[in-house]
Amino acid sequence: VIRTRIAPSPTGFLHLGTARTALFSWAYARHHGGEFVLRIEDTDVARSTQDSVEQILASMQWLGLGYDEGPVYQMQRLERYHAVVQQMIEAGTAYYCYCTPQELDEMREGQKARGEKTRYDGRWRPEPGKTLPAVPAGVRPVVRFKNPLEGDVTWDDLVKGPITINNREIDDLIIMRPADAQAGEGALGVPTYNFAVVVDDWDMAITHVFRGDEHINNTPWQINIFRALGAPLPQFGHIPVILGDDGLKLSKRRGAVSVTAYEENGYLPEGMLNYLARLGWSHGDDELFTRDQLVQWFDGTHISKSPAQWDPAKLEWVNAHYIKQADDERLATLVTAQLAKRGLSAPERLPALCALFKDRCSTTVALADWLAMYVAPVTPSDEDKATHLTDAIKPAILTLADKLDALAPADWTKAAISAAIKETITAHGLKMPQLAIPVRVLVCGRAQTPSVDAVLELFNKEILVNRLRSV
Ligand code: GLU
Repeated sequence: VIRTRIAPSPTGFLHLGTARTALFSWAYARHHGGEFVLRIEDTDVARSTQDSVEQILASMQWLGLGYDEGPVYQMQRLERYHAVVQQMIEAGTAYYCYCTPQELDEMREGQKARGEKTRYDGRWRPEPGKTLPAVPAGVRPVVRFKNPLEGDVTWDDLVKGPITINNREIDDLIIMRPADAQAGEGALGVPTYNFAVVVDDWDMAITHVFRGDEHINNTPWQINIFRALGAPLPQFGHIPVILGDDGLKLSKRRGAVSVTAYEENGYLPEGMLNYLARLGWSHGDDELFTRDQLVQWFDGTHISKSPAQWDPAKLEWVNAHYIKQADDERLATLVTAQLAKRGLSAPERLPALCALFKDRCSTTVALADWLAMYVAPVTPSDEDKATHLTDAIKPAILTLADKLDALAPADWTKAAISAAIKETITAHGLKMPQLAIPVRVLVCGRAQTPSVDAVLELFNKEILVNRLRSV
């Protein structure tokens, strides 16, 4: 059975890149009728927080990326990592290294001075017939993996194709660090990423590892550790980074990079999901597709080998499509939350308002921008005022105000409002736009809106009449 996973480190929000990797992993598992696992890689104790775990889980849920197992926390598996380390030491595939930080610095400085690549020189690596240094007092050792000295590591990357690294290029990696001296008696040391990830992928029977290509240099070590453990190798697919429009890796300094931020900025999960899926993956010319279509199509092929370009305008376009399709009651709930952030209560008949305005909006924030005029004062621009609110038009606006004011609540319909507008333009000898545009400027604070009777009908009568009379 196909099993994939996503393994975020809880040191911040769910990053867009991680969300996309999660999406690919999830879709791959679903496509094959397999299973998708969520693992929290929290071994960076200083930077991991519970708050971040919760944000990540919330974003996964928001995107609808359901997992079949997890969350599994690495920090709850320390005993297991120690047991595996012990087995490796006994089997001679790992060893204690007592180098102090100063010694390692000196080693690196010497290598640099000689123009060599810096690497661990293997001084504690046991070999037949080799005498190891005397164990120094008071030094708590790390455990290193005894990487093969010869031969190649080769894998057929699901995204990048065949990759080969010679073992001479990689040194003996630290797989376990001792617990901090302050941690107290019996405290367990913490494994490093490259080791914990292998034990976990093995224990969780992961068959396909998708992850960002910043990890590509880690994979040869991991493959060697899998082999040392006699564990079956998963397949690896390294996904290229996402670049911002400045051509640099998408990062917090250059705009929103968390899924949470897009949720807050009024994007719909189905829009995000569709956009993220197309970012570095394609299915012919299809730009808009449902979650089910994605699952049907996503077979691990057609993932781009080159970096994807984050394109905010395209994201807006995709999201606008889903806003148009969205149920009006659902939009009303989302817009209510957006208005509440501005200290505004929701207007009456909000679902009808969403239906009227959603074609013009790409996010629920944009919808809230429109609909705020139904509950909060508007400020027309000086230019619109000067152009459209001329002395000549004021009498007609006051006539309209009186006609609307005279309508009984039961008569407050689009037809009745339309009739009042028509009577007004006839009485004052105007053409429709000559009245409709000034009315829009006064009531909505802008010259362009959907059809004026439809817009007015959804106003509270008192607010509307007062705005007209303020001319
Ligand atoms: N915790 C790693 C990360 O967030 C996971 C990498 C992997 O999938 O192996 O980058």
